[in-house]
Amino acid sequence: MVKRIAIFGSTGSIGTQALDVISAHADKFSAEVLTAQSNHELLIQQALKFNPNCVVIGDDKKYHLVKEALASTDVKVFAGEKALEEVAAMDCYDMMLAAIVGFAGLKPTLQAIENGKAIALANKETLVVAGDIVMQKALEKRVAVIPVDSEHSAIFQCLVGEGRNKIEQIILTASGGPFLGRKPNYLVNVKRDHALQHPNWAMGAKISIDSATLMNKGLEMIEAKWLFNLKPDQIKVMVHPQSIIHSMVQFEDGSVKAQMGLPDMKLPIQYAIAFPQRIPSDFPRYDFKKPNTLTFEEPDLRTFRNLVLATEALHKGGNMPCILNAANEVAVYAFLRNRIGFLDMTEVVEQALNKVAFIEKPSLQQYYESDGEARTFAASLIQM
Ligand code: NAD
Ligand code: MG
Repeated sequence: MVKRIAIFGSTGSIGTQALDVISAHADKFSAEVLTAQSNHELLIQQALKFNPNCVVIGDDKKYHLVKEALASTDVKVFAGEKALEEVAAMDCYDMMLAAIVGFAGLKPTLQAIENGKAIALANKETLVVAGDIVMQKALEKRVAVIPVDSEHSAIFQCLVGEGRNKIEQIILTASGGPFLGRKPNYLVNVKRDHALQHPNWAMGAKISIDSATLMNKGLEMIEAKWLFNLKPDQIKVMVHPQSIIHSMVQFEDGSVKAQMGLPDMKLPIQYAIAFPQRIPSDFPRYDFKKPNTLTFEEPDLRTFRNLVLATEALHKGGNMPCILNAANEVAVYAFLRNRIGFLDMTEVVEQALNKVAFIEKPSLQQYYESDGEARTFAASLIQM
């Protein structure tokens, strides 16, 4: 049986690596849906290679270019934001790989769950924004949500076979990003290109900046809460610059399980789409004979205040993580366009958290509204 995968965000860092995994295991997987926001050239190339049931180009101005290029094939072509949800509601696939970046990934993922399709979840923002609603819907529809994020994949792998055994705490490992050990007097002058250089992982622009500010680890704490049904106090972060241990689970008896390997996102992607099986790979192996040391240290919360803001949002709950995420998306894109400085990103997020009204148990509509309000407010700060 070939598992039919719908890759939402196929032209991104996760999406392209997922297609590598699929072509290495063409007997097990097919790519039935491919979507891209603006990179129509790569989308066309992918469609010609994988011959999916359909493709979506987010930017409708590019519809004709894609349509024309695929005229000799029977690939269906759709365009625009709404089409993502329409395609997610189709029956031509078995599992969605949610690999769109940011809030934009939420609606299609919810639609896939509504449609009873399994989810391989890379898009952590989906759970940060509306984790309660997403996980509740998945439970109702008996849909599996398998993490792709390497830390969460590690925890998920540690939990296989543990049944109802209680978790004492989880330890999310953080590489520390490109500015590990740096202080605010250095960070104040940091520019986009420097911040995009991650020591261990090559990733999309947004998550690379989030890794540099440690917001990524904050988002991952919130993601972990919903995936593994944890209390905020059970979620710890340790900086582990080598990125060999991808995260750990400590059980009630004090035993700690870790999942290890070289940093390579293809492994958690492959694990998520093949679950519950493990299938062969030729990814490079970790070599214990090489002289190497694994180190652990506490994150520098005085310098990387985004992690403090995210932890506060995690504890407060309600729409706070949604506000945090929205303001952060606006701030990160402003930083990427050289509109604001590195430390200003934290300022924008903090002000938005103080400004937008707290709602303890938001409806989905209220999450959308909080997202909109936080974006408008964050953008108004940046205009000045
Ligand atoms: P990316 O920027 O490389 O790719 C994003 C993809 O989403 C592209 O295909 C793009 O066309 C599409 N997209 C962007 N904006 C869109 C919009 N408004 N509407 C529809 N589609 C849109 O990002 P990435 O690094 O692949 O990350 C994707 C997701 O996976 C993120 O949520 C990220 O946090 C998560 N993730 C990534 C990595 C990694 O190594 N790259 C690791 C863990 C988690
Ligand atoms: Mg991660």
